[in-house]
Amino acid sequence: MINQVQANLLKWYDLNKRDLPFRKDKDPYKIWISEVMLQQTRVIAMLGSYFEFLKELPSLNSLANAEESRVVSLWKGLGYYSRAKNLRKGAIYLATYHNSDFPRNLEDLLKVPGIGPYTARAILSIAYDLPFAVLDGNVKRVLSRLYYFEENINLPKSHKLLQNLADSFLNKNAPGDHNQAVMEIGALVCTPTPNCLACPLSKSCKAKSLGGQDKLPFTTKEKKKIKIEMKFFLLFNANKEIFLYSDSKRKFFKTIPAPPFIIIGENLDESYYEKNKIHINLFKSFTNSPIYLVKKHSITTHEITISYIIEYYNELIPFEHPYLFSSLENLEKNFPSSIAKKISNDIHKKKFFNLKAEL
Ligand code: SF4
Repeated sequence: MINQVQANLLKWYDLNKRDLPFRKDKDPYKIWISEVMLQQTRVIAMLGSYFEFLKELPSLNSLANAEESRVVSLWKGLGYYSRAKNLRKGAIYLATYHNSDFPRNLEDLLKVPGIGPYTARAILSIAYDLPFAVLDGNVKRVLSRLYYFEENINLPKSHKLLQNLADSFLNKNAPGDHNQAVMEIGALVCTPTPNCLACPLSKSCKAKSLGGQDKLPFTTKEKKKIKIEMKFFLLFNANKEIFLYSDSKRKFFKTIPAPPFIIIGENLDESYYEKNKIHINLFKSFTNSPIYLVKKHSITTHEITISYIIEYYNELIPFEHPYLFSSLENLEKNFPSSIAKKISNDIHKKKFFNLKAEL
């Protein structure tokens, strides 16, 4: 029976899979990059970055030899920049210990910095057709419905049980295509509102036969987004460059340079305010400066209203953290966040910005 279900799944996949660039060959490097990008980002949003990244860093060796700042700037717009840094660390590790190749077993692959169980299984199955079943959010949703799994899928014990189900459902004759097919069903058909009529698994789907597909998967309710305002201080020096600094202990942008900012919001815990104190002291002289508001920005757990103040100064601020100066043109490169893009777009849009005249 399961063979027939697996066969139906593969047939559906052959006919319906999206034409995605990282499916064109079985290059483990490209699969690795695409899987890491896809972990927090939708396909449509990551494709541009994917092409740009591979154009600049087409091989594992090129990634291993790249400057960290270059890798991070290629990650612009994808967020969670530690992923970019870990990719580079992983490439250096593979170049050092595995002759710039990927080990073909799970144990060794899991030792590579930045490669976790999902990514390791994806690389081994898709690039080398080795029998490892993947388990991501889409796969969990499909399996929880297919097998009528009623536990909260976000609990660690559920993860283990679902991994067992994924392993037993795996088509060992075509593990790479099978994994991609289940993920594709989750992305296109067995979506939060499932389209069971178009699903090749419908005949054997327990949730469908019991009419419970809309109730599964069971999860605890999502937390409400925390609303905050981030007020950035764009401080220009005499060379018309913006002051950016690094601080791994601040609340946001722990791994990339950013302009100083303070956070404002209701009922926030102390961690949000910790760094405010320094900046409020440093920049209290700017309290009369106009504040420019940028449109809202949303990330996984926060809804952020962005605003900024522009000021000019002639003397270097004594600062305890590593810092640098960036031209406005290079702001997105040096402060690789979509917030940088929103701020610089806003500055250009408002056309109020005539630094040359003012400085
Ligand atoms: S039949 Fe419906 S609920 Fe079951 S796997 Fe397919 S789309 Fe999901």
